[in-house]
Amino acid sequence: MNTSTVDNLPGRVLCDEIIPARAPWDRRLSRGQTLRIVDVEGNQAVDFLMYNAADDAERYSAQDTIAAQRNIFLRTGTVLLSNEGNPMARVTGTALPYHDTIGGACSCESNTVRYGHHTKLQHACVDNFLEVVLRHGRGKRDLVSNINWFMNVPVEPDGTLGIVDGLSAPGLYVDLLAEMDLIVVISNCPQINNPCNGFNPTPVRAIITG
Ligand SMILES: [Zn+2]
Repeated sequence: MNTSTVDNLPGRVLCDEIIPARAPWDRRLSRGQTLRIVDVEGNQAVDFLMYNAADDAERYSAQDTIAAQRNIFLRTGTVLLSNEGNPMARVTGTALPYHDTIGGACSCESNTVRYGHHTKLQHACVDNFLEVVLRHGRGKRDLVSNINWFMNVPVEPDGTLGIVDGLSAPGLYVDLLAEMDLIVVISNCPQINNPCNGFNPTPVRAIITG
């Protein structure tokens, strides 16, 4: 493990964990703390949701974020807004040109439609998200449109979406500065039917400093 990955983060390290391939993960992130997500081996999509820790009816809103910045991609400087229009977190650093927030999360249902009935029992991001939110007393209705860190969803001139080979590489990361107290939820995407994980889901690393 490359310890230099934490060298340029503000504050002291409060959490430094490996999220295994295909696994869910969630933590509380206090205002002013930074979460760094490291794509350890490269080309690993990290599906991501967040909720206001004080009132989970307030949660990430892809629509509000896209409308406010008048751009569909998440980059350094993007302010991630809630469904109430409040800043939840800010992307303070990433070497990738952009991350996705329109591709959605994979589910058993979408897998069977896209890739065939034989995929029905494959693990999916919606299962991971559900496992976490059920622990917090929430349910399927609380799974809103998510962020896909490290995932490449280009938009063609005619509006068509693609899910193609990732732009990420081993050791690249994204830093999020919390603008409010948050519950952050990750599904380390188990998808094996398209290139979003290079057809080989791998671990990622989560570091919290503050
Ligand atoms: Zn997925």
